[in-house]
Amino acid sequence: MKKTIIVIDKNVKLTPAQAKAHYTWTETLSNGKPFFCVPTRKVISEGSQFQHKKLCDGRTFTLGWTCGFSCQFCYVKTILCRHAGIARILKESGLAFQDVVVEKEDPLPVLTRQLVGKNGQRKFPDPKDRQVVFSSPMIDVAANRKTALLTVEACRIILDQTAWTIRLLSKSAGLKLIAEGLSEYRERVIYGLSTGTLADNLARAFELGASSPSARVRTLRWLQDNGYRTFGMICPSLPQEDYASFSSELAEAIRADRCEHVWAEVLNVRGKSMERTCTSLRARGFEKEAVRVEQLQDDPAVWETNARQTFLAHARTIPPEKLRFLQYVGAGQREWWAAQKPNGAILLGKTAATVRRAGRPRV
Ligand code: SF4
Repeated sequence: MKKTIIVIDKNVKLTPAQAKAHYTWTETLSNGKPFFCVPTRKVISEGSQFQHKKLCDGRTFTLGWTCGFSCQFCYVKTILCRHAGIARILKESGLAFQDVVVEKEDPLPVLTRQLVGKNGQRKFPDPKDRQVVFSSPMIDVAANRKTALLTVEACRIILDQTAWTIRLLSKSAGLKLIAEGLSEYRERVIYGLSTGTLADNLARAFELGASSPSARVRTLRWLQDNGYRTFGMICPSLPQEDYASFSSELAEAIRADRCEHVWAEVLNVRGKSMERTCTSLRARGFEKEAVRVEQLQDDPAVWETNARQTFLAHARTIPPEKLRFLQYVGAGQREWWAAQKPNGAILLGKTAATVRRAGRPRV
């Protein structure tokens, strides 16, 4: 049951600023967090940065703003800090960003309006238009049962009204629920479960609330064994003692040979993400791992060495036509990374400023 605490009569004309900041607070918890809804005018976004990462052909869609999970390295907070609705929720509830779930209010009619005109005609009728749309740049599409089922409904609308292909990324074994709900669309949905480690106890220390890596790997293998299209996502990876073993063990676990592509990325700076990750690792007894992450932060040479060693290990394990290693390249490193493009490196960012901005999807 919904309990509106900010009462705004929907018949009253709101200024754009008021509309953006409007929200409802429900009595339901989502992943144990208070759950809010914010009105939205779009579910699909154009021109996403995820195109540069080759995860889509430019379009993304999301049914929510903030996630049920609480990964310490998550970048979403840094891109939503100026969102009027989120800012108002945090201010008026007194809750922290990672302690709330914010979804789009009634997103399916909005999604339908983006795809079907008032006359009932499809807006994207080309049957040859197989472009890939990605979800989600903001939340985990299967963070809980309700979100997974809503994702199924949204995907059905897209699949029925376009000829597009959908790429879904998750850190939840609940992705299986979505696949089962879309089983007749096996050819048009590609599923990925990201993990940067195979150690369940380590992941638990900094990917709070997400499924364990072993459950994610189990789900990925189930998808592969049941004829679903899959991709790998070895991300984000911490600095390693033995990069070669790290890469080969992960490639074997996700069965890289059966994935269409394998993305990989080291842990990157997103606002205070590194500090949060270190604190969380240390609090759960992963002192050695926390120190290694701190060394990355303190020394640009260590940072670069970690990125290169991770890349080289993956390049030895995963064929170049399959590997998509995402690397934010700073001044002075471009030449080395540009030479690695044929081996699977994808260079992100051009200048220090764009490096900081890169990865931030337009939503
Ligand atoms: S699953 Fe993704 S969106 Fe959700 S908290 Fe983790 S990194 Fe952020």
